[in-house]
Amino acid sequence: MQKPHFYDLTYNHLVTLLESKELNPTGASKLFRWHYKFKKTEKCELELSKATQEFIYETFNFQLPEIVTAVESDDQTVKLLLKLSDGETVETVIIPFQNKYSICLSSQVGCAMKCSFCYTGTQGLKRHLNSHEIVSQIIVAWNWLLIHRSSSEGSSAIGQKTIKSIVFMGQGEPLHNFDQVKKSIEILLDQHGFSFGKERITISTAGYLPGLKRWLADDMPNVNIALSLHSPMAEKRNKLIPLNLRYPLEEVLEIIEQIPMQKKQFITFEYLLIDEFNDSSDDAHATAQLVKDKKTLMNLIPFNPIPGLTFKRSRDENVQNFKNILESYKIPSMIRTTKGDDILAACGQLKSKNLNA
Ligand code: SF4
Repeated sequence: MQKPHFYDLTYNHLVTLLESKELNPTGASKLFRWHYKFKKTEKCELELSKATQEFIYETFNFQLPEIVTAVESDDQTVKLLLKLSDGETVETVIIPFQNKYSICLSSQVGCAMKCSFCYTGTQGLKRHLNSHEIVSQIIVAWNWLLIHRSSSEGSSAIGQKTIKSIVFMGQGEPLHNFDQVKKSIEILLDQHGFSFGKERITISTAGYLPGLKRWLADDMPNVNIALSLHSPMAEKRNKLIPLNLRYPLEEVLEIIEQIPMQKKQFITFEYLLIDEFNDSSDDAHATAQLVKDKKTLMNLIPFNPIPGLTFKRSRDENVQNFKNILESYKIPSMIRTTKGDDILAACGQLKSKNLNA
């Protein structure tokens, strides 16, 4: 029988477990610090009693996903293809940003949402990731950085503050895997370990309404939310995100607006700009009308071409025109520089590989 995974345990669960074995519960904070704050992959021997060490390392599985390939882009973005214990693979992307990095996590093997602009969507859903498979993507990515980027960065060597943000924008619809994603976020936020601030974690959704309703009902920590909008017009949005037929944008927005937000938080709307499809002045005005009264940031993303699709990236002048129109309504927006598109690591370009085939 397979051992349970250590990286599936929340801090409170670990404390309770140690207590139930009559072991010192302070071992939980030592283990969290060792494996999450310092991201060590070897045993924690210092400060931990022999009995606790024996119990933890004999009971739990600490196996991490294996890096199959690490492809580096000209702009220093890195796409890791990770092999999970059952042979399935997912991709994790490390995105550089002013000497720090964002880690783009996958939450599922494949995805059921079938967005027409997305490479992942073409493979269908194989399975959800467990929370340990989500959390361990960060440990693997951080250790890759430690080995491959430490020396080249001199004074800004890889340290605890190297990871600036975590975005659930890799393979999968995170809210379709609500329980495991929620648990992984609880682990990422825990002050004894990774200790990420809520404002440093973003969940991106295509508008999966059942997951959004659970966010409201089930005490989801109030991390940032990003909605893939891509068009305010039902006909166009249906073509890009078939989920919109089942869960129309109006219903999705109604729930999103009820999600409690901290002072500095806002809803991010992701808008892929596709040439001659959703990048006209009319599209920009309709988008502005939809979001103008909301606390929002518009992320404009020139489409990243993927094999086999006829969609094309918007021309630069249309991207700028779109932004100018939003600004005329005083809607904050930014044009997201496409990172890693030469290695198919940009938005919508990720796909698992079947290593068993
Ligand atoms: S864009 Fe996101 S939700 Fe849509 S198919 Fe791709 S991974 Fe799934």
